[in-house]
Amino acid sequence: MDVLTFCSGLIRCQSVTPKDDGAIDYISLFLSSLGFETKILVFQSANNVIKNLFAKYGSSSQKILGFIGHSDVVPAGESWEVDPFSGIQKDGFLIGRGAADMKGGISAFCCAVQQFVQQPFDGTIEVFITGDEEIGSREGMPSLIKWTIENNAIPCHCLIGEPSSSTKLGDRVYLGHRGSLNVNVKSHGRQGHSAYPANYKNSLANLCKYIARISDYHWRHENKQFPETNLEATMLFTNNYATNVVPDFSSANLNIRFGDDYNTEKLKIILEEEAKCFDGLSFEYFPSGEAYYCNNDSLKEKLSSAIKETVGIDPTFSAAGGTSDGRFMCSYCDVIEFGLSDATIHQKNEKVKIKDLRNLELIYLSFLKKYFE
Ligand SMILES: [Zn+2]
Repeated sequence: MDVLTFCSGLIRCQSVTPKDDGAIDYISLFLSSLGFETKILVFQSANNVIKNLFAKYGSSSQKILGFIGHSDVVPAGESWEVDPFSGIQKDGFLIGRGAADMKGGISAFCCAVQQFVQQPFDGTIEVFITGDEEIGSREGMPSLIKWTIENNAIPCHCLIGEPSSSTKLGDRVYLGHRGSLNVNVKSHGRQGHSAYPANYKNSLANLCKYIARISDYHWRHENKQFPETNLEATMLFTNNYATNVVPDFSSANLNIRFGDDYNTEKLKIILEEEAKCFDGLSFEYFPSGEAYYCNNDSLKEKLSSAIKETVGIDPTFSAAGGTSDGRFMCSYCDVIEFGLSDATIHQKNEKVKIKDLRNLELIYLSFLKKYFE
């Protein structure tokens, strides 16, 4: 199938996270028509039922390349110039929710594989597609990896098809991402009338002073592959609306993005050490993923020469940007991330140049040839 036809059809599945609307079956049917063994795995959490796909071609356990993608998309929102789920072409672009993030990447890989498997090769291709990446991958990737371990099918290396390019297809490859830690800080004081300072302990002022202190923390930055570590206060709450009552309880959310100078355990120690001169603070942690970085030069070289050959660009290697499902797979194998431009992702009128879609297919095909040669 042509990549444009494939991608338009996939966009027409309204798989607004965590709904599937036929997206997983669509990919699964195509891959099984190429000779893949496919397995649709449904994982259930408290609120959601998430459909995921594992597909495999080949039986070698020596050389296994995994491809990781997600078929869910963020909600479309209002005021598009076209129907966001029609997969329509206009002025050299394919427009639609998920065109860039990341139904385009999935389509390019599936169509590259369609060509690649025409010739015999020595190795195995595995495809991992999840249905809840856009709401934090609570059930998709972690459960899919667990299933893959139980079935002895962990790949040797993984390519993630997320939109890694910046302004031009091929200008950027992600070799990793910073880690992310969410923290809820609670401040407990004593309620009282604001005219009588001797009788209260202000939980809110206490918390604000702590936020000011920790926001000014001087983070180490040894590994320059990563952007600097930063901590941001993202929410402040107190249980009081009267103007003359000092609140006994306040809380705040912090988000920390960190390079591999740190990990969740080290950050917990710092946050609590810095809280020692404040009364009544307690912490709850919601780790989202550790920092990771791929140091595999041969994988880098194969991908960058596939890019250079196809679009004439030497990519920069980066570990900036938000996190991806690579954070789950990185403990088991090297992970490298390359795909379309991120210029319109999560925006209205999300689109991809048709030429980029075709070139991405060619880059993936060239990468497959180099990987298995
Ligand atoms: Zn994405």
